[in-house]
Amino acid sequence: MSVNITHDHDNETLKSIGSVEGDWMARFSPVLAEIRGGGISNRRRAGDIIRQLIRVFSYRAYREGLMAGGVDGDTLDDEDTIAIDAHIKAQSAFVSNFTSVLFKEGISDDEAKQKAQLWFDGSIKPAYYMALESADTNGLYLWVTNAAESCESCDYLRGQIHRLKAWRKQDLFPTSSKLICKMACKCELVRASGKPTGSLGNVPTG
Ligand SMILES: [Zn+2]
Repeated sequence: MSVNITHDHDNETLKSIGSVEGDWMARFSPVLAEIRGGGISNRRRAGDIIRQLIRVFSYRAYREGLMAGGVDGDTLDDEDTIAIDAHIKAQSAFVSNFTSVLFKEGISDDEAKQKAQLWFDGSIKPAYYMALESADTNGLYLWVTNAAESCESCDYLRGQIHRLKAWRKQDLFPTSSKLICKMACKCELVRASGKPTGSLGNVPTG
């Protein structure tokens, strides 16, 4: 088996979504702190602010995904816009649940620390993979594990190469709810060349 990964492209890909992640953490955490501190005392207003952040960052992640797939991220077509808007709309109910918890019961400091990451993994990062699929559905992608330890699903997928549409058809992408590690997944799908490798038939799922 020979795996030939296009290294330059990968590094660029990982860096681009990484910078969206860093900016998200820098923006979301202070907003959450302000809500918890009583600086934003109206639940509706808090929800609007979070929804607006999700909108801005979902678009950014989507553009990064297009670029990672080799398409100019500045020109979203109608299909892209419909897909991303549907994704953003689908996050709205999660925001309502979240602000309900924030305003009724509150969350602990530890929970607050985890929330920014959870929202990125659950609501922003999926937009990146949606765009990647739109741009490069027939491209070959290699499953790479980044964490020191990965779950059974990701251990099974490590090193496998498939067309992006094959991965997506099985709902297998990093942070997918189908994985045992779910949103905690730190894996990446990176563009590879060569041939499809491995099987998606018996993936241990969560
Ligand atoms: Zn994983």
